[in-house]
Amino acid sequence: RLVLGIDTSCDDTGVGVVELAPDGSVRVRSNRIWSQTVHAQYGGVMPELASREHVERIAQIAAEALDEAGHTLGDLDAVAATSGPGLVGALLVGLMYGKGVAQALDVPFYAAHHLEGHIFAAASEAELRAPYLALVVSGGHTHLFDVPRSGEYVLVGATKDDAAGEAFDKVARLAGLGYPGGPAISEAATRGDPDAVAFKVPLQGQKGFDFSFSGLKTAALLAHRAGAAPEDLAASFQQMAVRTLVNTTLRAAEATGRATVVVSGGVAANAALRAAFQATGLRVVFPGRGLNTDNGAMIALAGAAALHEGRAASSLSEGAVAYAPLATA
Ligand code: ATP
Ligand code: FE
Repeated sequence: RLVLGIDTSCDDTGVGVVELAPDGSVRVRSNRIWSQTVHAQYGGVMPELASREHVERIAQIAAEALDEAGHTLGDLDAVAATSGPGLVGALLVGLMYGKGVAQALDVPFYAAHHLEGHIFAAASEAELRAPYLALVVSGGHTHLFDVPRSGEYVLVGATKDDAAGEAFDKVARLAGLGYPGGPAISEAATRGDPDAVAFKVPLQGQKGFDFSFSGLKTAALLAHRAGAAPEDLAASFQQMAVRTLVNTTLRAAEATGRATVVVSGGVAANAALRAAFQATGLRVVFPGRGLNTDNGAMIALAGAAALHEGRAASSLSEGAVAYAPLATA
């Protein structure tokens, strides 16, 4: 069966197509993304402009995604679209488009949670069989969930201040390494000394599983002012950011007895983070290429799981929500 997935939660128009086999295995057939550029001149995403750009692009990106998958609208068996969290005006565009397609074809429509989409991006690489831990490290979230059963999310820990991706972006900016910061830090770090700048481990000695990045950011600023080389700053910051993410997740895995960890969101593209997680001995699953940052295929993967599990379709009157915690307990 064929599932269309749509994400318009922020400034990327993403549409993907996923094929679901009777045994529940999935294959990403296409993943088209239109990244808006109008916001650059403002130094941040302008919500109203984002909505308008989604309206102008959504049909075209969806047509491209279907085309690349070798299918047409009539072949679809289900449609999924992000309903939140995100920019409400932007979300509404993808949500309305998805509902319209589903209604016209008389197939189930699934309203998807954006973070569940980020987690299911990893289903492109391996079957996600609960129980497992899910660490979402993106531009707006650093959230660690326990997933005891499919569709159930228990929040185990979260950042107390900045999200991991946000910290990468801010440190890159202050070190003059450009935007987006994650890839820039990752690249500069290969030429720097990770032990050149001494950072303190955030929340050292805590009993819980929360994260903190504002201390690293401040320490990076002070080191920059003291004349640290951008490459050394990048390597040292990245090493400590990776260490805090991996160590806290590892402790949570030991405490919960989970042997599998899904690591997703934009920061999951980081090579140093992947290497450190792979060295833990846990079974670690990352999203495939191009599925770490916002995209439509990850929403199609979440929709495919819902379809396979026979979950009830969402109501077509379901609206977009700016804030929606994923945790169910
Ligand atoms: P959210 O889903 O929480 O609303 P988002 O969808 O905007 O946030 P993503 O698109 O998942 O966030 O991720 C973007 C973030 O990932 C940016 O902060 C970026 O710097 C970071 N990032 C991307 N590539 C890398 C990398 N190689 N290393 C570290 N960080 C990275
Ligand atoms: Fe996202």
